[in-house]
This record gives sequence, structure tokens and C-alpha cells, in this order.
Amino acid sequence: MQQIIPTPGIVHPGIWHVENHPQEGHGGTDIGARRMLVPLDDSPGSAFVRQHEMAHATISPDVEKVMKSRKRRKLQIPTHTSIQVAEDLRIDAWQQYIGLSIIDPDFGDYAAFVAEKIAKPAAVGDLYSATCMAVAAHFPLQEVGAGIPQSVRVVKAKLREAIDRVILRRQFKDVIELALMLDLLRPGKPANGGGTEEGNKGSVVKWGAVEVLEPERTRPRDGSLVAISSMQGVDLSDPSRIFTDCRPFERIVPMQGQGSFLIDCSSSMCWTPDALHKLVESRPEASVALYAGHKVDGRLVIVAKDGEAADASECMRLIEHLGNNTIDGHGLEWLSQQPEPRYWFSDGQATQPNGNHGAAQLECIRLCAENSIQRITRIPD
Ligand SMILES: [Zn+2]
Repeated sequence: MQQIIPTPGIVHPGIWHVENHPQEGHGGTDIGARRMLVPLDDSPGSAFVRQHEMAHATISPDVEKVMKSRKRRKLQIPTHTSIQVAEDLRIDAWQQYIGLSIIDPDFGDYAAFVAEKIAKPAAVGDLYSATCMAVAAHFPLQEVGAGIPQSVRVVKAKLREAIDRVILRRQFKDVIELALMLDLLRPGKPANGGGTEEGNKGSVVKWGAVEVLEPERTRPRDGSLVAISSMQGVDLSDPSRIFTDCRPFERIVPMQGQGSFLIDCSSSMCWTPDALHKLVESRPEASVALYAGHKVDGRLVIVAKDGEAADASECMRLIEHLGNNTIDGHGLEWLSQQPEPRYWFSDGQATQPNGNHGAAQLECIRLCAENSIQRITRIPD
């Protein structure tokens, strides 16, 4: 069989070592070492792999060198996998830009293949792998909505922007930004990218110290009750419902499902004792907490829990001297332990004491995504 040997030295000067890749259908390029492993047979699938690796040789930087320089400048280092995924998106965007096909001819139904590759990790809650697959496959997330878990859709807007930047500008700095964002989806990883060992030291999100205050809840549980319609019972309240939803009876049960509220009381939010009073009174079963921070620390005040509530004005007084965010992450962790639906009343402008606000805000997006928390800027009716 005829062997076809690509010549990356034409696009990236130097002496290259090109060898057959031991694994069928796989390729790899090490720019720094000028080494390329690709299938050398003359099948269309192998030509496709070679085209992809030649694109790397043409526009990919020496990633290791770039990361070393970021490390020196104490910048965040994305994980290797995320960089690879994001860079492959750029490679595809570039190939498409210069008129090359980015669909592997070996695949009949590429869309179905990718959808399945996304659905598998998504089904077991592995958001990171599902999203990486979606990105690497250059598959617009909104078109595979059904396969992507709800929590990825929460971060979708930001992710989408980062993806679009890579596709439109095709610059490596956008690849790094996208990779850092992907890293936020890694299970149990702080927003430091989780990256390569010591590479991230100093860039972990470090929230301010939190003081949790629980003023006495003077409004006792009044056993708030609510009437619900039911299929069985003794109080026949609306016989006509036999013909509609089969729920003609009425049952009186304790009110539930009013959810939980974490209120950002930093000065940008302009939250008032009146608003707090209204919230607590209108939702007697909701869990409610306030928080605000100072330079390096902050307070989380538990206002209402288990149907009991503390005095709204007194709770507000406990944080009135605080105007910053600083402890958003601690607040969101408290909220993630409370009953759903969970609401975070905030403009999302989270901060941490060391001033890296971008990382703090991304970490909050991740916490919201992982814990089904919805950020709101007005209390729903
Ligand atoms: Zn690649």
C-alpha cells in the first residue's frame, strides 16, 4: 500500500519527525519537539487525520511554552484536556475558514455520532465531558439541547460567547479563555482551572472568612396550611373536576416548596428591611439568609428557617455596616443545602478579597450550575 508522508516542515520550519501513529485513526502533534504521529495509509479517513495535524503544525503554538510563560506571570493554567478541546475547536474553525472540510469522511451520520457521545456522559451527570465533546465537535450547544443537561444550559450563555470568540477570531488567547471556562465544569474543582499541579497556586478562589449569625427566630411556625386539590379525600370541593383532572377533593396540607433565598446585601443591591419583611411574610415556609462582606470577611445571617423567622429589621442591622460581597461562595454553599427551588438574589458581581473578581464570578456560575441555583434580580411573585 502506498504511504503518504505529510511535510509539516513546510508550514512550521525545522526538522520534523513524522511517524505512523500506532493507533488506527489517531493523530498527534508536538510542536515544541517537532514530532507528528499520523496514519500514513491512503484512506480518506487517514487523509482527514493528516489534514487535522497539519493544521496544528500550521497555527498551533508550542502549548507547553505558552503555559510556562503564564506560570511565570502567575496566570491561571487550564487543564491539558480543556486546552486540547478548545484548540481543536479553533483548528476546525480555521480549516473551515480556509475552505477545508471538517467532517470526517469515515462517519456517516456525524450529528448522530456526536449527539450520542454527548448524551452518554450527560446521562451520568458528567457535565465536563459532555460539554468538552460538544465543543470539540464544533456542535452548537443549542442544537443539541436535549442531550445537554439543564445545568450546562445555565452557563451556556457565557460558554457560547467564549466559543463564538474562538470561532470568529481564531486566536490562541481565546482558546485559553475557553479552556478556563470548561475547567469550571470539572467535578469538584475550584475555579482555578484545576490545572496542572502547582501551576495554579495563588489563583484559587479564596472567599473571605464568614461569620454565620442566627438571630433568635421570634416568629414561631404558624403551621402555614394550604389547600390542595386531590383525587381522594372527604371534602368534595369541586365535583366538576371529576370530568377535568379527576381532582374533586380538597386536602389541607402544610405549605411547602416555597424555596430558599440567599440575598446579596452588598451596596449595589439596595436591599431594604421592608423588602426582607415582605419576603419573609409572603413566604412563611421559605429559608432566607442575607449576606454582605467587608474587605476580607463577611457575615451570613439566617433570617428564616423551618417556618420560623427572626425580626427583619434586626437581621438587616447586623450587616448594615458591610457593603461588599467577599463571601458569595460561602453564601451559595449554604443555599445549596436548602430546599429547592433555590434563588440567589444578586447582580452576580461576586468578589473575593484578593481582587480576582472574574474568577470569583465564574466560580459562582459554577456553584449555581451544580446546585440548581437560579440567580434573580427581582423576587418572583
Ligand atoms: Zn487536534
